[in-house]
Amino acid sequence: MDTKKIAWVTGAGKGIGEAIAYALAANGIQVVVSARTALDIERVAEAIRRQGGDALPVVCDVTKPQAIQEAVVQIQASLGAITILVNNAGAAESHKFIGHDDALWQRMLDVNLNSVYHVTKAVAPMMVAANWGRVINIASIASKVGGKYTVAYTAAKHGVLGLTRALALELVAQHITVNAICPGYVDTPLTDNAVTNITRRTKIAENDARKLLENISPQQRLITPEEVAHVALMLVSENARGITGQAINVDGGTVMF
Ligand code: NAD
Repeated sequence: MDTKKIAWVTGAGKGIGEAIAYALAANGIQVVVSARTALDIERVAEAIRRQGGDALPVVCDVTKPQAIQEAVVQIQASLGAITILVNNAGAAESHKFIGHDDALWQRMLDVNLNSVYHVTKAVAPMMVAANWGRVINIASIASKVGGKYTVAYTAAKHGVLGLTRALALELVAQHITVNAICPGYVDTPLTDNAVTNITRRTKIAENDARKLLENISPQQRLITPEEVAHVALMLVSENARGITGQAINVDGGTVMF
């Protein structure tokens, strides 16, 4: 690829997205650091610049198609065509199915699945024009197995795999790969919220709630955001051009398919 690589990482204000932004920037890729909160993304962009990298903070709520269009216009005008897209923004809320709130169902589909559709639809034409691209969807082991009290999140994340596989075939002729990374529990603010929820609902101590999540993995630990970022960086590389339509688990061996 001749053109300079420009990556858009959604939900890069903290957690996995922040780690992916750092990893890409450290490898000479211009990174658009995007999330809803200006303060978070400016902090991440500033940290990248301090390390000698190149980052553009762009506020964008990925549940709003109009905001996505505006972000794309801003990014193109400032940097040029996006050729690497990391659909990372997401959220996890849980509720038992009996009495499930329809609004929660819609929120989970919007932030975890519809966002991937809308952002990728806005960006893919640039990759097609460049005849090169990388789409990386941060899915979950909930893309492959069910878990109690998470029908909405699980359905949305399963949907992300369907989108990943279908699109991988559709864009294959333009040298664009489309893959998913499926983490187990990762040590991020999202998991901190899960711990708080378990503590609130079950009245067990916070440390014990965290242990519960750690023990889901055969390695009995949480994955670090940097481990997920490492796989994203690998998928961006030229030598990963043969990897497409895949869903790579980063979960300490919890799920083996
Ligand atoms: P996090 O809550 O720590 O960070 C999520 C980031 O996404 C934040 O910057 C947040 O502001 C942003 N975001 C949320 N909603 C947004 C929206 N509507 N528009 C734009 N940005 C938005 O989460 P995380 O743990 O880093 O998770 C990142 C991704 O990884 C998510 O898709 C999540 O489902 C997935 N994942 C996380 C875990 C885990 O254990 N943490 C496990 C598997 C998959």
